[in-house]
Amino acid sequence: MEFVFTQPQAAVPVEGTSQLFPVHRIYCVGRNYVEHAKEMGNTGREAPFFFLKPADAVLPIADGSIGEMAYPSQTKDLHHEIELVVALGSGGKNIPAAEAVKHIYGYAVGLDMTRRDLQAEAKKLGRPWCTGKGFDQSAPISTIRPISATGEIAQGPIQLSVNGQPRQKGDINQLIWSVAETIEQLSSFFELRAGDLIFTGTPAGVGAVVAGDLLEGSVEGVGELRLRLV
Ligand code: MN
Repeated sequence: MEFVFTQPQAAVPVEGTSQLFPVHRIYCVGRNYVEHAKEMGNTGREAPFFFLKPADAVLPIADGSIGEMAYPSQTKDLHHEIELVVALGSGGKNIPAAEAVKHIYGYAVGLDMTRRDLQAEAKKLGRPWCTGKGFDQSAPISTIRPISATGEIAQGPIQLSVNGQPRQKGDINQLIWSVAETIEQLSSFFELRAGDLIFTGTPAGVGAVVAGDLLEGSVEGVGELRLRLV
């Protein structure tokens, strides 16, 4: 059987190669840093939860270049959330935390861009977050660095500045649920697969950006991400 038409595979370049990492799904963790949970009106002790973005929401940005993201429609409050992204090279169901690291292909720096006004409305009305979180280009992402080059990332500064002014600052060791625990939890809800990306949550300091702003983020040991809103 042939497909009635073909369509592109969402993908992210891998550092130091001419290869692409094919994206299967994009999972995101909510409220995974205490100070961000507090700034969103929670105690910081709630268990994290998951939502998804479409695979083709990725906006890959090559190392050393400044990506461009079009300011999205239907919002007046677009927020940045800088995040460590974990790329899976294999998957499974009910993966124990102690075995999670062997499923990691590599890491990237990502932005979970959020139409905060639409998300807030959805929260209030008990509606899904799709329009607030899962829109086109809502997942800008750096080149993926294989874990063979980085080693396991369990600590190190994560930060974001806007137009040179510091906005978000944290450390990967402040994750409420570690990457391994996140994989354990997530794999109890979904069968994880090679090609899955996990956005692991954002530290405190989220805020609005407007067209013309330059966002510069980094995770130590992983890389940098530069994005201009147009
Ligand atoms: Mn997020």
